[in-house]
Amino acid sequence: MRSNTTSKNKQDNAVFNAKGVKVYYGNFMALQEVNVAIPDKEIVAFIGPSGCGKSTFLRCFNRMNDLITGARVEGELNYQGKNIYDDKINPVKLRRQVGMVFQKPNPFPKSIYENIAFGPRTNGYKGNTDDLVERSLRQAALWEEVKDKLKEKGTALSGGQQQRLCIARAIAMKPDVLLMDEPCSALDPISTQQIEELCHQLKHQYTIIMVTHNMQQASRVSDWTAFFNTETDESGKRRGKLVEFSPTGQIFSSPQTKEAEAYISGRFG
Ligand code: ADP
Repeated sequence: MRSNTTSKNKQDNAVFNAKGVKVYYGNFMALQEVNVAIPDKEIVAFIGPSGCGKSTFLRCFNRMNDLITGARVEGELNYQGKNIYDDKINPVKLRRQVGMVFQKPNPFPKSIYENIAFGPRTNGYKGNTDDLVERSLRQAALWEEVKDKLKEKGTALSGGQQQRLCIARAIAMKPDVLLMDEPCSALDPISTQQIEELCHQLKHQYTIIMVTHNMQQASRVSDWTAFFNTETDESGKRRGKLVEFSPTGQIFSSPQTKEAEAYISGRFG
């Protein structure tokens, strides 16, 4: 894997450090050894053709793969100096620090207010819940649109609003990192633009790791880009690998690998 750090050396400031991370589904190795440092308070995009392991790797960061029968992660994924795959790590607590936003907006079938308040309250939040709801919705650039209808169902909002509500819900837990799995793929262009602008604002407080199938989105939004690809294993199965991790400006103008160059110039994928 090529990793270029000369033009923008943020690697010393990593929030996550993956060392030899491999992911299996049963006997199938879906992702071969990944070594990468995720810089703190930056936006990292995962790009690459379908099936190359982007979502699989994203799910490693908050141990969501634990919830998939047959999935197994090997190697080390260090966060705050600890391997999150260590037996002593509580995955539920980890998921409070490393929140997730999914492809399809999935608000709870509750009021807008409760969508935000529910998680923190369940986790023993002692502060003023009204303030927390307002602050989270403001941070997610949704407050002005919903402040007069907080009692209405979150599911009644538009798709783009629902996705911002899900981001607000994640933020309310005061995470450190936000994982986003193709957060705009179900949204119209205006909602997509709103989410992209929101990401730019949020990165001052959170590290964002985003899977996107849209290269323009990666180039607009991210500071760093990880390009994944597939290769054929001994038994003829296609497994994923991380090919290049570079500053976004660089990977799109002068990729360090022929594979990234071919993908970015549209020759496959
Ligand atoms: P991407 O996000 O890049 O499209 P994925 O991470 O979804 O790729 O998938 C990587 C590989 O792992 C693919 O071969 C896919 O079929 C396989 N895979 C993903 N999820 C599962 C699962 N739950 N069970 C078995 N195989 C899976």
